[in-house]
Amino acid sequence: MLVRLLYASRAAKALSAKSVAGILNDCQRNNPAHGITGVLCYSDEIFLQVLEGGRDAVCETFNSIVRDARHEQVRLLSFEEISERRFGGWTMGQVNIGKVNSSLLMKYAEKAELNPFAVSGKVSMSLLEELIATASVVGRSG
Ligand code: FAD
Repeated sequence: MLVRLLYASRAAKALSAKSVAGILNDCQRNNPAHGITGVLCYSDEIFLQVLEGGRDAVCETFNSIVRDARHEQVRLLSFEEISERRFGGWTMGQVNIGKVNSSLLMKYAEKAELNPFAVSGKVSMSLLEELIATASVVGRSG
């Protein structure tokens, strides 16, 4: 039983390269063992993350993430059963939204910024798919 979960959150304090590296380190340490794949998209203050994998693994990982004090206002944007992964190439791919072409962001939002709180989960998922299609996601595994 594969599922895909999408959520958004706000960083508890302004993100630094060090704090993002710490989170990605957690992903590298835990996700392969649990069969979790996905993408973490971030700006100075906002996270947008998609997780894919078995239903139990995705739910356990999301439960941990929700309790993490490094972010707040965690909002579930979508949860669906899936027949195949879309983000299977990444233990946890990363996108620093500050480095993404502003026209790509403008395609899905009123302003060229990451704001999943202002759009539907469907729109945020389309943005993530576009980021894959334009090779904006780094950290492809193996
Ligand atoms: P542990 O207690 O050893 O937990 C390890 C991980 O395995 C936890 O996610 C836990 O829920 C999970 N787990 C435990 N048992 C099972 C099981 N039976 N099946 C499946 N999973 C199980 N951490 C991640 O591991 N993956 C992420 O993708 C991730 N993304 C994050 C994104 C953001 C924005 C933030 C702020 C944090 C993220 N974290 C992620 C970190 C997470 O919040 C925890 O801090 C981290 O998982 C704790 O890891 P640990 O090895 O110290 O703890």
